[in-house]
Amino acid sequence: AKEEYTKANPRSYAQHLRAAEVMPGGNTRTVIFTDPFPLTLVAGKDARVCSLDGNWYRDFLGEYTAGFYGHSNPILREAVMQALEQGWSMGGHTEAEAEMAHLIRERFPSMEFLRFANSGTEANLYAIQTARAVTGRNKIVVFEGAYHGGVFVFSGASRHPLTAPFDFVLAPYNDPEAVAALIDQHAGEIAAVIVEPMQGSGGCIPASKEFLKFLRDWTTRTGAVLIFDEVMTSRLAFGGLQSLHGIRPDMTTLGKYLGGGFSFGAFGGKQEIMGRFNPLGPNSISHAGTFNNNIFTMTAGSAGMKHVLTEALLSEVTARGEKLRQRLNDIASRSELPMTFTGRGSMMNVHMTRAVVNSVRDLKASHIPLRDLFYFDLLKQGFWIAKRGMINLCIPTTEADCDALVQAVEQFVKERTGLGL
Ligand code: PMP
Repeated sequence: AKEEYTKANPRSYAQHLRAAEVMPGGNTRTVIFTDPFPLTLVAGKDARVCSLDGNWYRDFLGEYTAGFYGHSNPILREAVMQALEQGWSMGGHTEAEAEMAHLIRERFPSMEFLRFANSGTEANLYAIQTARAVTGRNKIVVFEGAYHGGVFVFSGASRHPLTAPFDFVLAPYNDPEAVAALIDQHAGEIAAVIVEPMQGSGGCIPASKEFLKFLRDWTTRTGAVLIFDEVMTSRLAFGGLQSLHGIRPDMTTLGKYLGGGFSFGAFGGKQEIMGRFNPLGPNSISHAGTFNNNIFTMTAGSAGMKHVLTEALLSEVTARGEKLRQRLNDIASRSELPMTFTGRGSMMNVHMTRAVVNSVRDLKASHIPLRDLFYFDLLKQGFWIAKRGMINLCIPTTEADCDALVQAVEQFVKERTGLGL
């Protein structure tokens, strides 16, 4: 399969070799690294991307959820062009940042005060540092399978060792009793519990409401800060998963598509916590960053929230995703392959297992070589998905795109049945 792939994509291969002369592995984003080499993309239109080798793919990756608006949205484009006309990197406060902050708070009322950063990683770093500052405590509870940014990965997958720039307690996801048994003993030292209300990179594994409620109660009782990392899940409902569950975290972090496809991060929460960033206040915490209010993110992000993504449109895309996942699971359950699709709304992930997946612990027996075949087979059929099996819809994804994906997965099942898995 690797030879065939190399032969089919000679220009991407050459480009990879050139990149590898200056970047280790030819890559600056581990997540898009693919053995033997990743494809180089040169263009995008609506829900399609084009590789350097001239092949167009139906884009079911959507830049790992950050590309929710699709490519070349005319409203975002116009907003950015206007900003370009007026000037950028001016080094002052801008109207666009206040506009963007208001729009976010309207959608996420738990973010009473918020501030911007340039990535989800940074937003989480700031949220955690804030929690440590306001509680005077040191430890952070994180969950197995979590991904909160390039420097804090708790998936334990072979390529990523567990890593974080702070002292953490690693707990199992979706298991309140086990978590209580583990963290009760540290209660006085825990500054924050940070959780994705659905694990994204870990494999689109939704948290149960009961689990999130347990975390809400535990943190309220012990005085720790509850942080919801909604960097990916903010697209699953107008007010994020916190609105669907009716649970109000103390802090929330955002990123990805809300910046209109430009580099973006935001963190916010209760006024009594976030108020510490007021430079005129007592014990003020510093938060700087040259591009925190960069005009492209602020303008495109605002235009997207104001003029593109209505609540009705979001419901439509979410329903389309639910239906697609259902259809894919119908195929999986009829097939003899170990295969299941987890997720919610417009985000899903294939897992090559027959187990019910409630945490990464349920993925121990999943068949990674079959998942790799799934990736390469789908690529050959013209679909751009994540190597690790993530599949996302974006706003311009059509029913016809979904039908085509269903057919491609049927084809994959047909070809790969009988491997004796
Ligand atoms: N949190 C979550 C839940 C994420 O999925 C990601 C990115 N995949 C991040 C944080 C980090 O965001 P960024 O890549 O913008 O640093």
